[in-house]
Amino acid sequence: MIAEHEITARVPFAGSDIPSDAVINSCVHCGLCLPACPTYRETGLEQFSPRGRIYLMKAVADGRIGMESAVFQEQMSACLNCRACEAVCPSGVLYGQILEASRTQIEQAKADGRLPPHPWPARLLRFGAFGVLFRRPGLFRLFSRLMWLYQKSGLQALARRSGALRALKLDETEALLPPICDRFTIPEGQVLPAEGAERFTVALLTGCIMSTAFADVHEATIRVLRKNGCTVILPPDQGCCGALHAHGGDLNGARDLARQNIAAFEGLGVDAIIVNAAGCGSTLKEYGHLLHDDPQWKDRADRFSAKVKDVTEFLATLDLNTVDMRPLNLTVTYQEPCHLAHAQRISAQPRQLLRAIPGVTLREMQESSLCCGSAGIYNITQPDMATRLGERKLNHAEATGAEVIVTANPGCHLQLESGLRRRGSKMQVRHIVEVLDEAYKR
Ligand code: SF4
Ligand code: SF4
Repeated sequence: MIAEHEITARVPFAGSDIPSDAVINSCVHCGLCLPACPTYRETGLEQFSPRGRIYLMKAVADGRIGMESAVFQEQMSACLNCRACEAVCPSGVLYGQILEASRTQIEQAKADGRLPPHPWPARLLRFGAFGVLFRRPGLFRLFSRLMWLYQKSGLQALARRSGALRALKLDETEALLPPICDRFTIPEGQVLPAEGAERFTVALLTGCIMSTAFADVHEATIRVLRKNGCTVILPPDQGCCGALHAHGGDLNGARDLARQNIAAFEGLGVDAIIVNAAGCGSTLKEYGHLLHDDPQWKDRADRFSAKVKDVTEFLATLDLNTVDMRPLNLTVTYQEPCHLAHAQRISAQPRQLLRAIPGVTLREMQESSLCCGSAGIYNITQPDMATRLGERKLNHAEATGAEVIVTANPGCHLQLESGLRRRGSKMQVRHIVEVLDEAYKR
């Protein structure tokens, strides 16, 4: 196992998943992306900007520095992969692709001994999360049940009061743990008929975190879809979407999960594959790229991705059933998940749906589409920047005077709820389908 001081030569990109030269070279260094970048906005430093990070990737690609460079590794981790830069770039630089490839290069070099490995707690965390929990839905559900027991038994309250979590430096991570839904999971394999005349048949991605901690959001999604004439299928044998793997430098892990999901959904003959988590939806829509080098799966992946729709994107194309809604008398503000606004470019549709609900007032917050700092496991790996961005977001949300922050992604949901708890705020966080569902409850 190589140590830091033993690296004598530059460590180049190598093997598979090398960041594309064509994409790196499509950056013309105009700097128009800088104001959109949350880490640049917070630091004002070029190396914390998209342009600075692309420059570092190019330096490794050209052999001017190697992957052992501390600043290269630091910046590949410090980026949120929020893709706000990609959405505003006039040259169409596919930043997410080269970032994920760069992270995969670092992880491959750490695994095969060309770079020093992660410290053992990080190795354990990566193995437990990427290699075990998010690969095996059964184990993930078992883990969720244990977390539920931890919360309901009073152990959580005791651990928080005793200071043990702080002593183990686990207090900030533990604070992100969502209240696990009492019902644990949405049973897969069911077909739930449309209410009234059937207009569409759709399949729902149940996923990992959404099917356990946010099982109630899935239930609300199913009720809202059925109210709008959709028969909803919950295909068995599906798994995690692979977003955490792709964002965390394990593209092969993401590919395995993509193949599992494509096999689980193809052949159903549905009109759409519905996703209610922005990060999952953007990954599912990119399965075609993920498997572009695999001749057996590429076309199947493209066909699968073409059917994927975020639930807000899908509902906004329907003649939304407002007849069955009751007025809510609710003031909300909308926090845009990055992977909805920037990666999928879905921004107007959630607002359109909120405005369609009688009695809902939408008050826009400043910087609604600036990342809240959640970004997958970023709030665990980069807690300082994550907290700064979370506080910035909550300041803007509270300034609206709204009662509820509406969002559409579990990571944002957890990050915002944890920040509100820290502040002792009475504001609530809700998924957009929960608000729609409430309006349908007479
Ligand atoms: S990524 Fe795009 S916007 Fe940013 S500097 Fe390069 S070309 Fe300009
Ligand atoms: S993905 Fe987000 S954090 Fe990373 S460089 Fe682009 S705008 Fe900045």
